[in-house]
Amino acid sequence: MSIDTEKIRAGIEKELYVNKYNVDEHQSHLRVKDPEVCNKCEDKPCTYLCPAGVYVWESGQLTVQYSGCLECGSCRFACPHDNLEWGYPRGGFGMVLKMG
Ligand code: SF4
Ligand code: SF4
Repeated sequence: MSIDTEKIRAGIEKELYVNKYNVDEHQSHLRVKDPEVCNKCEDKPCTYLCPAGVYVWESGQLTVQYSGCLECGSCRFACPHDNLEWGYPRGGFGMVLKMG
């Protein structure tokens, strides 16, 4: 049985669309400790394990699009080099959960 990754991704995108965020424009709650470590990181699992696609490898560097973070914490365990500093957004910022 083959896995239709495009279909799965489309389903995730659809679900993400209903989330709301109060973005902290001044401070990221996610930080790469040492960009050089990312350069040498072979598989860059953060770029495909994050459900929100926060980590993107482009033009030879890792960008962290923290505004879409779901605060699930998966990336803390995904990085094989312990190269991510993770925290929750400051009080009042981050994902807004809708009830009902
Ligand atoms: S998994 Fe860790 S070391 Fe590798 S690219 Fe991502 S943050 Fe950098
Ligand atoms: S906490 Fe979850 S959603 Fe946020 S960057 Fe890490 S893996 Fe992605």
